[in-house]
Amino acid sequence: MPFEELFAEAERQLNICNSCRYCAGYCPVWPALELRTELGRADITHLANLCHDCQDCFTACMYTPPHEFGVNPPAVFSSVREDTYRRYVWPQHSPAWLRGRVGLGVAFAAVAALLVLLSFATGRGEVFAGPTRGSAYELVSHTLMVVVVAVPALVSVLTLARAAWLYWRDIHGPLAPLLDLPSWRSTLRQVATLRHQTGGAEGCSYPEGEPSAVRRRFHHLVMYGFLLTFISTTSAAILEQFFDAQPPYPYLSVPVLTGLVGGVAATAGCSGLIVLKRRSDHLQSTEGMRRADYAMLWALLLLMLTGLVVLFGRSTIIFAPALVVHLAAVVVAFAVAPYTKFVHWIYRLLSVHKDNVERGNR
Ligand code: SF4
Ligand code: SF4
Repeated sequence: MPFEELFAEAERQLNICNSCRYCAGYCPVWPALELRTELGRADITHLANLCHDCQDCFTACMYTPPHEFGVNPPAVFSSVREDTYRRYVWPQHSPAWLRGRVGLGVAFAAVAALLVLLSFATGRGEVFAGPTRGSAYELVSHTLMVVVVAVPALVSVLTLARAAWLYWRDIHGPLAPLLDLPSWRSTLRQVATLRHQTGGAEGCSYPEGEPSAVRRRFHHLVMYGFLLTFISTTSAAILEQFFDAQPPYPYLSVPVLTGLVGGVAATAGCSGLIVLKRRSDHLQSTEGMRRADYAMLWALLLLMLTGLVVLFGRSTIIFAPALVVHLAAVVVAFAVAPYTKFVHWIYRLLSVHKDNVERGNR
């Protein structure tokens, strides 16, 4: 649907909701809607990114299709979020292959082949004959590793930072509230507990209409698991750069313990969310958003599983091939993050913060 029609449809539905207000207790979308008598594109974008697709309002609503009002907030918000993911990124009209399975597969294979080539070209190919010490630098040198992984990471971070800046400027305007620390306290508390996924009390109706905390628990596992793996990578870099401690690290060390616990937690969380998603395929998200959800979850799962294989197989012959797959997955994930569902947490975080600023939550 062209974006003018999409926003006109969202405005039509939300005007009905603003008269009804039955869903007021389900999530912050509804109190935020009540603050608005007119809905511009920025308001609708903000509300759509506050929505986390729990389906509670759709389950409760008496005006859903085939009713003539045709109210369906999760579906219309889902389409608006798809528009958000395209609107703020650079280049705005990113090549379709970045999001397609074939293109991602080709990019993944190309990075994996490049790593193998670099390994043999720099005289380190014997790592594939195993057994190994379990250091990534047995595959390629430290400098090459930094170039292959850090360049896409840096480009990705800059692209995401620019998108976040443009998004905030659109939905809020002044930059000063971005430094409002008391509101950030509320924002971070809500994000850390995934407060908005409680569906007002018992949990989301997702995926089968019964309130349940399962989806929130799986999200917790993914979020904290990912954070732990980030701590693992960062602590390894600190040990290496500042304490001259070279990998591999012992099992009872910060990088290994955080990587292990984080990897297992995120693997369990991603697997659980994939199962829930399969059970929810009949629900209201658009086809594009469903594809984006699956792509992100499978990519994260691949990252975590290969990370665990690298860890447990680090002195065996599977270490080098597993490391190649893991590094290729990391590089491709960084490269495509701004153009895929990976980006969603930035917009949601900023919308939750705007909501707290707007409502004086401190
Ligand atoms: S989704 Fe339906 S029940 Fe909920 S506020 Fe809108 S019109 Fe009312
Ligand atoms: S789907 Fe859930 S989060 Fe989204 S607007 Fe409805 S109640 Fe709120």
